[in-house]
Amino acid sequence: MLRLGVTSAAIRIPAGKGTVALKTGPKRTAKTSGTPPASIAIIGGSGLYSIAGLSEAKEVRVKTPFGDPSDAIVTGLLEGKRVAFLARHGRGHRFPPGEINYRANIYALKLLGADRIISVSAVGSLREELAPGDFLVADQFVDRTRHRVSTFFGAGLVAHVSFDKPTCPEVSRVLADASDLCGVKVHRKGTYICMEGPQFSTLAEAHMHRALGFDVIGMTNVTEAKLAREAELCYGVIAMITDYDCWHPQHESVTGAQIVATLNQNAEKAQRVLRAAIKAVPREHRCKCGAALAHALVTDPKCVSRATRRRLAAITGKYLP
Ligand SMILES: [Zn+2]
Repeated sequence: MLRLGVTSAAIRIPAGKGTVALKTGPKRTAKTSGTPPASIAIIGGSGLYSIAGLSEAKEVRVKTPFGDPSDAIVTGLLEGKRVAFLARHGRGHRFPPGEINYRANIYALKLLGADRIISVSAVGSLREELAPGDFLVADQFVDRTRHRVSTFFGAGLVAHVSFDKPTCPEVSRVLADASDLCGVKVHRKGTYICMEGPQFSTLAEAHMHRALGFDVIGMTNVTEAKLAREAELCYGVIAMITDYDCWHPQHESVTGAQIVATLNQNAEKAQRVLRAAIKAVPREHRCKCGAALAHALVTDPKCVSRATRRRLAAITGKYLP
């Protein structure tokens, strides 16, 4: 058993699962004995509950000030780089989109040292030309969720991050290039409408979403993207298209079995694309994601309580020691 002490957060690793020690504080430092910090995190959605080819794989149970993430996080080496994998819905798909603890998921990845997140999700297509089996690297979101906490702030500390470009251009380019390299048909940009769910759209909603010019529909990514931006993490999306939602007259009778078959084929492609993407991710950052809070914290530091500083230490520690 070992602990990751993080002011108000602790990471516990079951005995026999390897050892990690990591500290964060005002000036974030990572001290490791055993597993070093993972700089690239992967969040896998429907169909992608593990990552193939990880060496030195270890499971880490992370505690955060926001509760527990969806599952243990698996860290290991892929293409010579240290990565962390989290199953968004938990292994066995136990959490619907509205019950996922998004804040704990993002905070836990931050604690493990991630500075980039690659999100993999199953989505429905709202356009004829975006066919099942294609990938889309979403670069815009519309948030139609209603029952989720999608910010780390509040409790006496106000922040307004820029979100006009909600994904990381650098990670997005790597994901699109990696898809090309693997022979997967990829659309390099598009708007992802995020609905609350868990029900799929009505026909009227699907027609409305098409009329408004959206491209794909899902239930999770905008919440993650908002929190990743607040946590100063790069966030890039592989949206794997599984079906035509319900609007397509020739596809309205698609069976669950067909959707599952496409989901499984997409997951196999995603494994290859992820490998190529991890290999291609540059060591240096040329994006601005890592400084998202530099001009976003608006509360007078004198008014910010110790408890709030402690709770958000991994995210705001460098600004509010
Ligand atoms: Zn970035």
